[in-house]
Amino acid sequence: MILIDGKKAAAELREELKHEVTSLKAKYNRVPGLTVILIGDLTPSQIYVRNKEKSANEVGLKSEVIKYPDSVEEKTVLEKIEELNKDETVSGILVQLPLPKHIDKQKVIETILPSKDVDGFHPMNVGNLSSGYESSVPCTPLGCYLLIKKVEPNLKGKKAVIVGRSNLNGKPMTQLLLKENCTVTITHSKTKDLKAECLEADIIVAAVGIPELVKGDWVKKDTIVIDVGINKTDKGIVGDVDFEEVSKNAKALTPVPGGVGPMTIACLLKNTIECFKRSQI
Ligand code: NAD
Repeated sequence: MILIDGKKAAAELREELKHEVTSLKAKYNRVPGLTVILIGDLTPSQIYVRNKEKSANEVGLKSEVIKYPDSVEEKTVLEKIEELNKDETVSGILVQLPLPKHIDKQKVIETILPSKDVDGFHPMNVGNLSSGYESSVPCTPLGCYLLIKKVEPNLKGKKAVIVGRSNLNGKPMTQLLLKENCTVTITHSKTKDLKAECLEADIIVAAVGIPELVKGDWVKKDTIVIDVGINKTDKGIVGDVDFEEVSKNAKALTPVPGGVGPMTIACLLKNTIECFKRSQI
């Protein structure tokens, strides 16, 4: 079984991006800039943002974090986004989710200029992705896609089963694999026989949020299994895939942690650079 090393893949991607930033700097005399807005003091969000900032600095991006207390008014955040939209030194804007209840998430997402939407959540980017046009792609599914391609460069005709239909993971993952000419089945909490669906798959991407949902006897030999889940349990952090069981059957599997997670941040940097390049055309 191939253990898909997300840490190593992310380090390689960051190295590539670092070189790209160096050549962009030589060409344009400036570097892509990422601005992250962090609202409130939720510990996981603070950790994510700190990691994003550290990685952005590592590849040579200009990075900035704007912090607001939980009590900040929605209007203040929207005005800041408008300001960043006009700022030419800012290539990408990310508002760290979740947001406090009094702030309308969709309004925030739609205020970010689609060309600076490094998370790929703006309806314009969602539409472009599903129409097969150029767009920012949500970072986690983009990371999964790059990991799958490392194991199997030619995905034409493969059967992919996506477990979970969230806007963040399952739906964009479906679009990426359709673009690669996979036959894609998207499953969810109302799917009648998830095991039977998974047994048909050459590729499984599990993004559910249920610890170890995908079992060993749900996976046929030679299946590539990507585990997006991050679940806190008594035995520590586990994914949505039963690692012990599935590793006996699968052709390739991502561990949790150390699989999809590191690629998510590297893809955020990639998206920031892509936004910068598109803005130079
Ligand atoms: P979500 O809660 O938005 O969506 C979960 C999806 O799973 C839903 O579409 C639901 O229909 C489906 N589902 C629920 N129960 C099911 C069942 N029994 N069978 C089949 N489908 C079922 O979740 P999300 O935001 O997509 O996140 C999923 C997981 O991925 C979480 O554990 C989250 O922490 C993790 N995550 C990881 C990363 C990363 O970088 N690795 C990034 C984002 C999310």
